[in-house]
Amino acid sequence: MASITLRNIIKRYGHGPKANPVIHGVNAEIHDGEFVVIVGPSGCGKSTLLRMVAGLEEITGGTISIGERVVNNLEPAQRDIAMVFQNYALYPHMSVFDNMAYGLKIASVPRDEIKTRVDKAAKILELGHLLERKPRELSGGQRQRVAMGRAIVRQPQVFLFDEPLSNLDAKLRAQTRIEIQKLHRELGITSLFVTHDQVEAMTLAQRMIVMNAGNMEQFGTPEEVYHTP
Ligand code: ADP
Ligand code: ADP
Repeated sequence: MASITLRNIIKRYGHGPKANPVIHGVNAEIHDGEFVVIVGPSGCGKSTLLRMVAGLEEITGGTISIGERVVNNLEPAQRDIAMVFQNYALYPHMSVFDNMAYGLKIASVPRDEIKTRVDKAAKILELGHLLERKPRELSGGQRQRVAMGRAIVRQPQVFLFDEPLSNLDAKLRAQTRIEIQKLHRELGITSLFVTHDQVEAMTLAQRMIVMNAGNMEQFGTPEEVYHTP
């Protein structure tokens, strides 16, 4: 687990006079173990902010720290983060176990250790009885849980969620939301979750960052954010 510190974060896409900043100097400190939701309308910069924390997008100005480390110049794999995306492509020809194990195999984690980690994640996500199945033999909800399992087995300091619920139907969305809450209760991993959906934000957030047009307009608990006059 680790805190995430954003200091005066600026982002401009491209160069030259036409390159308007899309993030205008965001400052925020996300505490160790906290679940923070970034919410705001489409195009306000939520995804850009998250991708900068992940290392998938260059930072134009400011510093991002994860724990004690400034990560500005670190590759994604060095940042101790795991991401859960909206489009969770599972490998169709691989079993659930192999889908979860794949990243660890690539990283040369020893076999026994891989088995221990996958079994632990499968237990948390109630996938233990499905480890030999192929993705096509799973329900949508089960597939989504395998995608989360892939992130968990990395044992990251930080989880980054990029609108992971937005392609799901209402029932599955509610179910997966509960799954994510349970995950956070059990593992307590510092989490940053991006959504444009206010209800989703309120339900999941311990605190929420409200973005608008590249600015952080509010940062507080759902009560604080919705009860300010
Ligand atoms: P959100 O996630 O809130 O919908 P984004 O972070 O995707 O917002 O986008 C913020 C702004 O940056 C938008 O104006 C968008 O058009 C612009 N933008 C996003 N990605 C790029 C890119 N690769 N090149 C240029 N502009 C981009
Ligand atoms: P792929 O087959 O898509 O390349 P890998 O598991 O081989 O996936 O990972 C490739 C690189 O991307 C590695 O450096 C790994 O650390 C990083 N990576 C893959 N998935 C994630 C994730 N969910 N979160 C963070 N980093 C990831």
